[in-house]
Amino acid sequence: MNELQFAEFLDGYRTNCSKDTLNHLARKGHAYTVMDQNSVKEGPGGSKLITMYPNADAGLPHTRPPNLICVPAYYNLTNETLLHECLHIHQRNQKSKWEAYFSKQGWVPVAESHVPERWRRRVRLNPDTLDSRFYAWENRYVPLPLFEREDRPDLRECVVRWWDQRSGGLLSEPPPSFVKAFGANHPQAEHPREVSAVNLSRQFRMSTWDELEAYVGKILS
Ligand SMILES: [Zn+2]
Repeated sequence: MNELQFAEFLDGYRTNCSKDTLNHLARKGHAYTVMDQNSVKEGPGGSKLITMYPNADAGLPHTRPPNLICVPAYYNLTNETLLHECLHIHQRNQKSKWEAYFSKQGWVPVAESHVPERWRRRVRLNPDTLDSRFYAWENRYVPLPLFEREDRPDLRECVVRWWDQRSGGLLSEPPPSFVKAFGANHPQAEHPREVSAVNLSRQFRMSTWDELEAYVGKILS
C-alpha cells in the first residue's frame, strides 16, 4: 500500500468525492496521483512531501492523513504555504487541542445532518476539514464553501456563504464579529482550521519545525 492508498484507507476522501455528484463532477479529468517515482520526500517535522500531478485537486496544495503534504508539480511552494500545510498536519496530530482552541475562539461544531440538504449538496469537500466539516461561529453562523455553479462545479470557483441558523437565511457577508476577530476579506473563512492556518502562517516565519511546535504549543495551551 503506497502513501496515498494508506491516506485513503484512513480518510476516504476520494471515495467521498466520487459519491457526491458535484464534487465528483468538479474533479473529473484530474489525475489524482503522484507525479513519478521520485515524488515522495521527507518534509518538515516528520511529514512527507508528495509531488502530485499538476491538476490533482485542481492544483491546490492540501494534506492527507497521517502526515502527507500534497503539492502539485510545478507549484511555487512559498514558505507561507508550506507553513499553512504544516499547520494542517499539526491539526491532524493534535486534534483535541485544536478543537479546544476553536471552542475558545467562539466556534461550535455542527452535525452534517443539521445543515440543510439544499446547501450541503453544494459544499466543496476539503481534505483538510473532512472529518469535522461544519462549525458555527458564535453558535449561529455556519460558513459554507459552495460551488458557484451547479452545472459546472469548479474547485477554484467557490464562494463562502454564511448559513444563519437563527433566520435560516444564507448571507453573502461574514458577520461583523467574525471580521473583528479574524480580519476583513478573509481568504479562507470556510472553517476554523483554515482560518487559523491562514492567520498563523501569515504571522509566523518558520525556520525550523521545533520553532513551529513551540509557537503553536503556546497558542494552544
Ligand atoms: Zn488549508
